[in-house]
Amino acid sequence: MASQVMRNKKTMSETLIFSCVILCLLWVLSTAELQRFQHGVKEDGSLSLLVVGDWGRRGSYNQSEVALQMGIIGEKLDIDFVISTGDNFYEDGLTGVDDSAFDDSFTKIYTAPSLQKQWYNVLGNHDYRGDVEAQLSSVLKKIDSRWLCLRSFILDTEIAEFFFVDTTPFVNSYFTDPEDHVYDWRGILPRKAYLSNLLKDVDSALKKSTAKWKFVVGHHTMKSAGHHGNTQEIVDQLLPILEANQVDLYINGHDHLLQQISSLDSPLQFLTSGGGSKAWRGDVSKWDPKEMKFFYDGQGFMSMQITPTRLDIAFYDVFGQIKLMNYTASWLLAIEEDARGLLNPFKLAFQLETTAQLSPILQRFGQEMALFEIIPCYRSGGGSKTWRGDIKWWKPEELKLYSDGQGFMSVQMSKEEANIEFYDVFGNVLHHWKLSKGLDSVA
Ligand SMILES: [Zn+2]
Repeated sequence: MASQVMRNKKTMSETLIFSCVILCLLWVLSTAELQRFQHGVKEDGSLSLLVVGDWGRRGSYNQSEVALQMGIIGEKLDIDFVISTGDNFYEDGLTGVDDSAFDDSFTKIYTAPSLQKQWYNVLGNHDYRGDVEAQLSSVLKKIDSRWLCLRSFILDTEIAEFFFVDTTPFVNSYFTDPEDHVYDWRGILPRKAYLSNLLKDVDSALKKSTAKWKFVVGHHTMKSAGHHGNTQEIVDQLLPILEANQVDLYINGHDHLLQQISSLDSPLQFLTSGGGSKAWRGDVSKWDPKEMKFFYDGQGFMSMQITPTRLDIAFYDVFGQIKLMNYTASWLLAIEEDARGLLNPFKLAFQLETTAQLSPILQRFGQEMALFEIIPCYRSGGGSKTWRGDIKWWKPEELKLYSDGQGFMSVQMSKEEANIEFYDVFGNVLHHWKLSKGLDSVA
């Protein structure tokens, strides 16, 4: 009898200890914070970077050409780092840490001096189709010190915080209908707990953040008129957290294009940079033109220039040409919807009329400005009745802004530079242009 009691006592204490261990583990899991990295700003307190997604194809599908232009623009902007929005290695991620695709699709492709900076990478769905832990392994960092890839993490840059979120495990169809693909779900099962902890971590990190700018980076689209469209799972689960915590931008890849979509009911902007290699899929959904700020179904990448008070975003095509240049106060409104319901500000044109009405301003520039070689005419004729809606085609290289609406223009000049702004009838800045003497500069 006594030995029976002893045995029961022993079993009870074992159970107690076991329960404690489990509880402690659960506590650790539930309070695990996202790993945090620091990246300093430039001496003047600013930061610039490039964003590319959906790229690793051993140089094919213009991956090398996009990389070349990233190098040139990276040099011009003196970038501090590069962000990859995932789908780093096609078709099926890496087979292991010794997969030659790492060298052939990354190290040997992004060779420009300006790209020899830290790369902050997230995983895409294609990455999950290989040995997913290879991309997370520190072995890759030893092979190429630029490489840093985690499922979810925070990058703190003093003026901005970037919250990288692992979006692939949110997508139901990868679990319920994986077709011929085999996904490597090591490390994320049980899925429900993984996702709920991740959402909790992102929410609490955003709540604690005192950064001036908050950017969330994930692979999957939240809003997109491209092939994949919206990813409903993250729209339902992640988007409310972003909106509740005043996130400025959600930046993603997945759709192989460049795109900017705004929200009618929040300041959050959705930016897709997924043009790192194969693009031009050509399937586009109709979208509310009030939200669609830019759509370019082609290869390219995005740049961000950040100061405490200002954020400049630009999209570049495979030739390094700027497709869209925006800054915070002035998400470009000049957009025409074409017959297919596509929106492309660079398929716009206007009829040049006399420059006479601008002559007083033009004279103020004098002959020494290179302005008129770049753009034949700055025109501001929106004093009252406008919105005629008759638009002619124009060379995209020449057309810098088109808004068929009411408004006016301001010019601020010094000896060295001129700042030109166009405003709409609401006083919003439609377009900003800075010219240095003899130099076309995108400020
Ligand atoms: Zn993808």
